[in-house]
This record gives sequence, structure tokens and C-alpha cells, in this order.
Amino acid sequence: MTQPKAAVIGAGFGGLALAIRLQAGGAQTTLIDQRDRPGGRAYVYRDKGFTFDAGPTVITAPNLLEDLFTLGGKRIEDYVELMPVTPFYRLCWEDGDVFDYSNDVEALNAQIAERSPQDVEGYARFASYAEEVFHEGYVKLANVPFLDFTTMIKVAPQLFRLQAFRSVHSMVARFVKDPKLRQVFSFHSLLVGGNPFVSSSIYTLIHSLERKWGVFFPRGGTGALIDAMAKLFTDLGGELRLKTPVERIDTEGGRVTGVEANGWSGEFDAVASNGDVVDTYRRLLSHEPLATKRTKRLLRKRYSMSLFVIYFGTRKQYPDIAHHSVLFGPRYKDLLSDIFKHGVLADDFSLYLHAPTRSDPSLAPPGCENFYVLSPVPHLGKAPIDWSVEGPRYRDRILEYLDRRYLPGLLDNLVTTRIFGPDDFKRTFHAHHGSAFSLEPTLRQSAYFRVHNRDNRIGGLYFVGAGTHPGAGIPGVVSSADATAGLMLADLGLA
Ligand SMILES: Cc1cc2nc3c(=O)[nH]c(=O)nc-3n(C[C@H](O)[C@H](O)[C@H](O)COP(=O)(O)OP(=O)(O)OC[C@H]3O[C@@H](n4cnc5c(N)ncnc54)[C@H](O)[C@@H]3O)c2cc1C
Repeated sequence: MTQPKAAVIGAGFGGLALAIRLQAGGAQTTLIDQRDRPGGRAYVYRDKGFTFDAGPTVITAPNLLEDLFTLGGKRIEDYVELMPVTPFYRLCWEDGDVFDYSNDVEALNAQIAERSPQDVEGYARFASYAEEVFHEGYVKLANVPFLDFTTMIKVAPQLFRLQAFRSVHSMVARFVKDPKLRQVFSFHSLLVGGNPFVSSSIYTLIHSLERKWGVFFPRGGTGALIDAMAKLFTDLGGELRLKTPVERIDTEGGRVTGVEANGWSGEFDAVASNGDVVDTYRRLLSHEPLATKRTKRLLRKRYSMSLFVIYFGTRKQYPDIAHHSVLFGPRYKDLLSDIFKHGVLADDFSLYLHAPTRSDPSLAPPGCENFYVLSPVPHLGKAPIDWSVEGPRYRDRILEYLDRRYLPGLLDNLVTTRIFGPDDFKRTFHAHHGSAFSLEPTLRQSAYFRVHNRDNRIGGLYFVGAGTHPGAGIPGVVSSADATAGLMLADLGLA
């Protein structure tokens, strides 16, 4: 019997995890990416001795990553070191208030009590609620492919009982009264592209996930974790093809037969896309009539916000800055409405500041500090801003703000800067509307209502990554790989 051949288009976290599972499961797997290194949104820039992780920096649920290595008969620690990070985040407000967020319950309670003694008990009840959501929504369902409506109907009673129809913020607000604490326990859905005032309260499970397993950072940066996964894949015998932009997924009689890239093509029994879901149906399958309906339906959906990111290195060090900081601006709900609803690039901003040299000094030259700062901004479908003009201005405003409030002397000590905005997400990843996280994580776009892990009309076509169930973020896309691999291996006769 010949070994079945599978292709995965896109070497993001989801594509890599799927390729590892397929190769370990017995399919001869080719992992294809258009860029010169794997990682997707977890790309790496190197400049003047600085190593900048382009995207994900908060690594949670390390067990999901360990599972991939175990599956391949290896040990993750032989490939990469995951270092615990504490605090998980330092949350800062413009009045100078600071909250160190971690899974140290005593330290959390002490900080909550300082602000609002009644909320200590409220927080305990919130944590129990989040724990229950975590079990129902994550442990039981994260790697279940929602292929038919019956699966959705089956989980509906649990979702109703857990009040998944409420937003993250409204749920937090039921337990916790202090406005700042409501921010502390509700901002997490932003990490997967969702507005806390709109996203389903199911996303409170992120709180529980962090509390259970902690937050980690790979030595050498997230790029080192990507390199470890890519090495695991090739060690298992998989083929990694970089600099290969796929232009077309071939079909015949409503079934996938292979893929074509500029100057290269391959025949495969099964093909999974880790690329943008709209781009896959609209461009790579433009010749396939069965894809047209899918494209139309996807174009009617809501997409998550975009991001404006500035990577910068300084010749000065800032030892008081935590590894992960969230810098809240003067507005919360209204700012989020500007971003998600009104499509306004506001004068104020709330920022996430990454300072990886706090955990790993090797990411900058001696005596220097490595940073990135990101600002959630409207996607291009909401606000058709000319970022080639606005980008440099926005960069200057953010750097000036950081210099004034958090990083004194920053402007005089910059060694290097690079920006990446909505038009870059669109150009680099073919991301619909330049969205940073694909489909917005709302209840009506979750589980069965996201792109299915297997297309039920085009044979041999599968999806993995942020646009599929359960959604964006590393735990989400790595879980989606589990769901998709199960389907593919079974369909290929390997399970
Ligand atoms: C700035 C930023 C910070 C983030 N921070 C965190 C964080 O701290 N923690 C966390 O858990 N999550 C974070 N996220 C979210 C997380 O990074 C993403 O949800 C996740 O990495 C997406 O993975 P993916 O598998 O969907 O693939 P992607 O990373 O989107 O990769 C898709 C790959 O497909 C390739 N591709 C697309 N089309 C083609 C084609 N036609 N031919 C060949 N290749 C193609 C692309 O080049 C790309 O490499 C962050 C995201 C961003 C943008």
C-alpha cells in the first residue's frame, strides 16, 4: 500500500501542529509556506543584534505543545525551553495604578482587597465560573470538529446554562464591582481578537487556562518554539517547503487533487489550508464552483480587529518594566467601540507592551532592551485608512506617549524601529480586511458557525488555524489542529 500524501498550506502554529500530527500519524506530509521561515504571525525579525518576535508572546497551555512532541516520540525539553513568566501581565493605568496579574491567588486577593474588599469574594465566584466554562468549553470541546448542526444542538444546553449569550464583560461585571478590576478580568478576549463587550462569556475560560497552567516564554523567543516545532516535523520525516506561495488548490469532480505554486506543484490525497479562510475559498479555489457559495457566506461575517505593531530596540535598559504590560488608556468601552464598531482611529489608545529581554537578555545586544508595542485598531473593512501615511504618524504618537509615561528617554535611545499595520496583515497573510485574528470570536461565529475543519462538499479539503473552531490564539489553533488531524487521518484510512 502506498503511503497517503497530505499537504498543509501555511506553517503558522496551527499548520505546524497539524503537519506534525499527520506525519506522526502515518501520512507523508508536505508543509508549504510562502515566507522564508515558518511561524506565520509568529515570524521573527532580526535587526542590529535584536531578535524581535513578530506576534504571539504569551504562551499558555504548554501541555498542548508537549503533546505534539510526545506524539512524535520526543521530549519537548530536548528541543526548546519554556520559561515561566511572573507576573503574567502588569496592568497599568494612566493615574499610576498598577495590578500584577498572575495565578498567585493570595497576591491577587491582596491587590483586589486594596481596591475593593467586597470584590475578593466576587472574584472567587468569578474564578469558579471561569473554571466551569473551561471544563465545558475547552476540555470537552476545543478539539471537537463541529461539522454538523446536531453537534451544536447537543452542547446548546450547557452553553445556555453557562450564559454564553452574555458578553465577557457583562459576566465579569456580575461578580466584580470595581471598574478597574472589571478591566483586569475582562481584557483577555482581546488576546484572541474579541471585544470583551461583545465576545461570548465562553472566553472567560482564558482566565482559567492561565490560572491552571501559567504563562510561559520560550528561551530564544517564540521563534525558538516555532523552530523546535519545525525541527520536530522534519525529524519525523515531513517535508517543509518555504518560499512557496500556493496560487491554486486543484480540484477534479468536486475533490481536491493537489496544489500549485509559482513554479512548483504537487499531487495530494488531502489538502488542509492554514491560510486566511476567505483567501482560500476566494482565490485558491476561484475555479471551483462549490467554493463560490462559501466565499459569499464568509464575506458576510464579522472579522476581528487589526493591530498596529511597533518593534523597537533601545540602547537603554528599563528594568522596572515587566515582561508583559497592558497599558490602559483613559477609555475602555468607548475605545473598544471606536475600534470594533465605529471604525475610528481614536486619539487615545490602550497598548500591550512586550519586553522579552526581561526573561531572556540574549534577545538584544548587551546593555540594550528589546520591545514591541501593539495597539488594537479597526480593520480595513471598518476604516479604510491609508496606513502608508497614517502609520508613521501613529508610530510617533505611540512612541512619544511611551517616552512621556513609561519609558523615559525612549526617543533619545532608539536604535531600531519597524512598523506592521493592517495593510501589512492584508499584504503578508492575505488577511481579509487586514484582520489580525480572522473571524471575530462572537457566539454566532463560534463552533459550528466558524469555518469547519473539513469542507463537507469539496472532498479532501480541510482547514486549520484561527478561522476554524475553536479560534485564534496558540491554544486555539493548536487545538484546531487536533480536530482537523483526527478527521484527515480517519479519511486517509490511518485511524
Ligand atoms: C501581534 C500579535 C500578537 C499575538 N499575541 C498572541 C499571544 O501572545 N498569545 C497567543 O496565544 N496568541 C497571540 N496572537 C494570536 C496568534 O498569534 C494567532 O492566532 C496564531 O498564531 C495564528 O495561527 P494560525 O495557525 O492561524 O496561522 P498564521 O500564523 O496566520 O499563519 C498562516 C500561514 O499561512 C501562510 N500562507 C497563507 N496563505 C498562503 C499561501 N497561499 N501559500 C503559502 N503559504 C500561505 C502564511 O505565510 C502564514 O505563515 C497574536 C497575534 C498577533 C498578530
